[in-house]
Amino acid sequence: MFFIGIFGMGTKNKDIRIINNMICKSCGRMTSYKFIKTYNYFEIFFIPIFKWSERYYLISKCCGSLFELSKEEGEQLAKGDDSILDKLNITIVEDNSRCGKLMCHNCGKEVDESFEFCPYCGTRLKN
Ligand SMILES: [Zn+2]
Ligand SMILES: [Zn+2]
Repeated sequence: MFFIGIFGMGTKNKDIRIINNMICKSCGRMTSYKFIKTYNYFEIFFIPIFKWSERYYLISKCCGSLFELSKEEGEQLAKGDDSILDKLNITIVEDNSRCGKLMCHNCGKEVDESFEFCPYCGTRLKN
């Protein structure tokens, strides 16, 4: 069939840039975010004809959590406008900061969840 390969549709991820000196909204550590955009596209002869449902995301380097931005905020950040960074309204899509970890209820340190006692203060973690 002649038309195979001429039309294409799919979803693409595009890395836009890295944003440094941010506090992770998931684990609270100082981190950098990878700012990406995803969109669906339709192309003919490998030329994208249109794009739709563009979405903007941040992925934190510290724990790999995923956050979604509103389209307006994403577009401003993509233009290099960092003035909105302080008041970003991001939603956690995937919180990876707690996977495999427990927080000690006595000293607040992060402990592997296989431990029965906190290695920092000796508190019993499980009942
Ligand atoms: Zn984090
Ligand atoms: Zn502890």
